[in-house]
Amino acid sequence: MYVLKGHDFWLATTNISQSWYWNNVVKMKNLVLEIAGSPAQAIQLLEGCSTNLKYNTRLMYDSVRSCSPQVSWHNLVNSKGCHPKHSFAGMMVMHNALPTIDNLVRRGLSLVNRCALCEACSEDAHHIFFHCSFSRHLLNNMGIWLGLSFRSVSLFTIAQDFASRRSTCRQRICFMATIYYLWNERNARIFKGVESYVDNLSVKI
Ligand SMILES: [Zn+2]
Repeated sequence: MYVLKGHDFWLATTNISQSWYWNNVVKMKNLVLEIAGSPAQAIQLLEGCSTNLKYNTRLMYDSVRSCSPQVSWHNLVNSKGCHPKHSFAGMMVMHNALPTIDNLVRRGLSLVNRCALCEACSEDAHHIFFHCSFSRHLLNNMGIWLGLSFRSVSLFTIAQDFASRRSTCRQRICFMATIYYLWNERNARIFKGVESYVDNLSVKI
């Protein structure tokens, strides 16, 4: 492609000398890459949303958005003021569409299933959000800061509580950011070999 000039698409960056359309393609690529964690996993994610080698927008839409009646947590992931990246990550996890190790193994990959956050348990969405000791620690920190106590460490129970109680916009935004930063931390450990402490993540959120 003339824009890439032989360079890797997955390393492409936005450039004011390129068209608005191309820069939006790069931004979308960066979002998928950030959620998937690596180019290989991004390709897998996109392949899962393709039919006959053609990308199917409907499949991607369906994979991140329920076609069933409105779910109780919809106002949580669609919170006003929530960063689109955080909403996207939240939607992916609520639909169990993140490329967690158990999901990849189910798709036929041969991987050792070990949680990168606690290194003690196997990884699935249920574990990361929030049965993992690392995640629980972060959730507790956020609860203290937000003045909330969580009756469970189950993502769906917490999400339902946020939906049913009169949670503030700030609380919902922080909770979605917690999901995003946890997934980001997991990817940084696996793909970049970089680790952050729970307290550092709390400050970032
Ligand atoms: Zn863990």
